[in-house]
Amino acid sequence: MKKSISILGATGSIGVNALNVIRENPELFSIYGLSAHRQVDQLIVFAKEFNVKVVAIGDETQVSYLKKELSNVEVLGGRDGLLELASRDVPDLMINAIVGSSGMEPTIQAIINGVDVALSNKESLVMAGDLIYRLLEKHKTKLYPVDSEHSAIWQSLVGENMDDIKRLIVTGSGGPFRKRPLQTFKDITVKEALKHPNWAMGNKITIDSATMMNKGLEVIEARWLFDMPAEKIDIIVHPQSIIHSMVEFVDSSVKAQLGLPDMKIPIQYALTYPKHVATNWEPLDLIKIGELTFEAPDYERFPCIQLAYDALHRGGTTPAVLNVANEFAVYRFLKEEIRFTEIPELIQEAISQHYFIAHPSLDDILRNEEWAKQFIQNKE
Ligand code: MG
Repeated sequence: MKKSISILGATGSIGVNALNVIRENPELFSIYGLSAHRQVDQLIVFAKEFNVKVVAIGDETQVSYLKKELSNVEVLGGRDGLLELASRDVPDLMINAIVGSSGMEPTIQAIINGVDVALSNKESLVMAGDLIYRLLEKHKTKLYPVDSEHSAIWQSLVGENMDDIKRLIVTGSGGPFRKRPLQTFKDITVKEALKHPNWAMGNKITIDSATMMNKGLEVIEARWLFDMPAEKIDIIVHPQSIIHSMVEFVDSSVKAQLGLPDMKIPIQYALTYPKHVATNWEPLDLIKIGELTFEAPDYERFPCIQLAYDALHRGGTTPAVLNVANEFAVYRFLKEEIRFTEIPELIQEAISQHYFIAHPSLDDILRNEEWAKQFIQNKE
């Protein structure tokens, strides 16, 4: 039987790659529902191609246009429509490829309605990891990583015993500014920051890679996905992005997962787990690549890494505020309202000024989300 799937954030970079995977495996998958934030025409094309049953569009003004264009498809609109789609228990699996903190609630909705989630939205676990893990247990649902690093760790852990693990090693390319002189960081332009050396991704995550906050968020994500304390999660810079992460065992044996930097690989694995399914994608040619190199992360150049570790140690509402403050600082940087170097400064300020709650409920997290967003947006 085909696996029925819904994709939130279908028109973004991960969503489009997920649709590429599904297009190549029509005998394995069908699509129940798709959502998009604003790209209505792209959503219509995909809805027709994959014969979907329901679509949700974030921009409510487009609902009547969608209804006209997609006569046999149910159309949902706005934030409520998105949450409605996420809570439907019809599909076997929901891919959450929404960018940013607005992806957290849809993850929770799917879990409490018994739908397994393939999670690309790392912000869900950064903001509400503790809560989400309690809900997974209560509702007997599963979470599959889509992020390439976490997929690599997941693949390296198949058949292993968690007690045998010494540490997780999350690799990162180091972004475009690994070698740029630190005194010129304040002059970094949006255009320079959007040039990632290896991965083609959306704007928000590309800036997160340039500040290396992306790695920090991934450490927090790994803490929850693999129930591993922060002390046992390290970052290693690996500029070629071929080793996607590693697991070190207590006997000092290390397992890694390798592949070309192509998100279709971890996306497909999340959909076909525990099987690997044949593809005609370009294979990894290690002889052509020639050398793999490794460096320690530079905490002086990239203060966001330390901010993320500190937030993880502090716990409670801190990682949520870290995440939201980062997100809206990044949007301000993209609008050229603040400097590159002000991103970590604003995050630090938001964390130190927020109302800390050690064991937050979902409402506490949502209140802090709104507070941090306002704090960053209104900061002179
Ligand atoms: Mg990643």
